[in-house]
Amino acid sequence: MKRVLVLGAGTGGTIVANMLTRELDLREWEVAVVDSAEEHHYQPGNLFIPFRLYGYEGREDVARPIRKPLSSKVRFVKGAVRAIDTEARRVECDGERLDYDFLVTALGCRLAPEEVEGLGPALGEGAIHTFYDLDHALAMQEPLARMESGRLVVDIADTPIKCPPAPIEFAFLADSFFRKKGVRDRIQITLVTPYAGAFTKPNTNRVLSQVAQEKGIEVVPNFLLASVDPEGRTIRSYGGEEVPFDLLCIVPPNLGPDVIEESGLGDGAGYCLTDPRTLRHRKAERVYVIGDVANIPTSKAGSVAHFEAET
Ligand SMILES: Cc1cc2nc3c(=O)[nH]c(=O)nc-3n(C[C@H](O)[C@H](O)[C@H](O)COP(=O)(O)OP(=O)(O)OC[C@H]3O[C@@H](n4cnc5c(N)ncnc54)[C@H](O)[C@@H]3O)c2cc1C
Repeated sequence: MKRVLVLGAGTGGTIVANMLTRELDLREWEVAVVDSAEEHHYQPGNLFIPFRLYGYEGREDVARPIRKPLSSKVRFVKGAVRAIDTEARRVECDGERLDYDFLVTALGCRLAPEEVEGLGPALGEGAIHTFYDLDHALAMQEPLARMESGRLVVDIADTPIKCPPAPIEFAFLADSFFRKKGVRDRIQITLVTPYAGAFTKPNTNRVLSQVAQEKGIEVVPNFLLASVDPEGRTIRSYGGEEVPFDLLCIVPPNLGPDVIEESGLGDGAGYCLTDPRTLRHRKAERVYVIGDVANIPTSKAGSVAHFEAET
């Protein structure tokens, strides 16, 4: 039996594996998927969870058992991918070695708060939060509900990040949330970003900057985050600029998985060296890359992972 091995049962891995069970002759091919997580998360829901909006209130509104979105024709292997040997065409998982004929890496990216001085242990505690994963998004419900005055700072620590529009969407949702609560006039909302404006692309930047201005949201551009001071409640840029906060909603640096770098497949930041025209790995034979883990010049988004899976 030949095997296509898919690493990761997130958006990209699930779509490609399910499609392959329809495209391949399953008398000859096995489609196997490896993932270490208990749950598959619909990550866009994390944006609404902190505000308890549109029915996104609890874990069950975003999470499914990891196996559930996968076709019953897929063999699922639960475990962490520890090493990828592209010469031997073998992947080491917890307690299992899996050989492959073709490999698809769809391991996504991870939050790396430890990359920012002062952020690592402080994230999710006190006044420093994020909505970029489900546990942290849930933990932000209470501080947001409690906030009646002060400075809410939404900060993008570094680029690239998955779903680049999410931080400004969060700022707009916060504006609406506090207006409905009747406390907007006592809360200053600031978007602090490494981009040159409210968003990356010039046209969108122009429109979103105007919308932000109309909503009374301050935008601090070209801010490269160097450190977070949890006690002093200040973020500081490499240029020495400081922005104080009462509640900080931060998007920590996004990096690729360690196993990609450790297996010699990475670009230095954990993203796979990927040919943008073919989605083949640039160095390894029979290895394809989809989703956030690819180092191609496009947004890291579920929609992109979906189109790549269909390619
Ligand atoms: C707040 C937020 C809002 C978003 N909104 C949108 C939106 O509106 N539209 C949109 O298109 N996209 C959105 N996205 C982005 C979208 O969710 C991701 O781009 C998409 O999930 C990427 O799919 P992926 O398959 O590459 O990675 P993921 O879906 O993250 O899946 C990666 C999988 O790999 C597994 N994994 C990682 N490392 C290992 C390992 N070593 N061993 C075993 N398993 C491992 C993980 O457990 C995970 O299941 C949003 C993201 C966030 C955080």
